[in-house]
Amino acid sequence: MEEYRISDNIRQVEEEIGKACSRAGRAREDVTLIAISKTQPVSMLEEAYRCGCRHFGENKVQELVDKYGQMPKDVKWHMIGHLQRNKVKYIVDKVFLIHSVDSLRLAEEIDKEAGKKGVTAHILVEVNLAGEETKFGTTREEAVALVREISKLPSVRVEGLMTIAPYVENPEKNRQYFADLYQLSVDIMNENIDNINMDVLSMGMTGDYGVAVEEGAAYVRVGTGIFGKRHYDVSNAIL
Ligand SMILES: *Cc1c(COP(=O)(O)O)cnc(C)c1O
Repeated sequence: MEEYRISDNIRQVEEEIGKACSRAGRAREDVTLIAISKTQPVSMLEEAYRCGCRHFGENKVQELVDKYGQMPKDVKWHMIGHLQRNKVKYIVDKVFLIHSVDSLRLAEEIDKEAGKKGVTAHILVEVNLAGEETKFGTTREEAVALVREISKLPSVRVEGLMTIAPYVENPEKNRQYFADLYQLSVDIMNENIDNINMDVLSMGMTGDYGVAVEEGAAYVRVGTGIFGKRHYDVSNAIL
């Protein structure tokens, strides 16, 4: 029954993404769905994998490392949560993309650890557009300078921007934040900073990913829309 539910959910999310792409005149392959699997047991990730999901997102280092060891090697892992500098070394060679870089100190640590392992770390700069104090992320004003500084680090590559919009009942309320992130990426492109990309916008969650796709999201991060409610209380026991 559970298996049916996950495959059904994924089919529904895929359909929504497809419709949003059509509305916006975008190609479906320009949008990638990340299954946000934090707190969910590996059995549920495996089911999503069988349904075709290859991108998974986690927000805790230990959980990402545990699941990395248990899932097939062709999974692309996304670190979407606040990252402590002392934990960078555990994931830098395991993740496909780090979405949550909001300080030069963190980027420097990622550069150091990526350099040691001989890899390039692909990152997004997290921008807090709504100014919510509970959220991490640089301000819109500081973002350009931060990207400029990070661009000088040899083992880190900025691929674009990420934002977490407020939780809202009506996704239209977040449209402006998504449009703002897109505009910020255009503004940064116009700065002609060497050694960076601004192609990737990571925005949109279960409640608002359709609107995010319409506004240019390259990655949407969908958790509950695929897996249902999260299991915070038992997240350690089920691993
Ligand atoms: C948990 C989380 C998500 C997924 O949220 P849902 O509303 O369950 O889709 C997306 N992005 C980030 C950064 C998250 O922490």
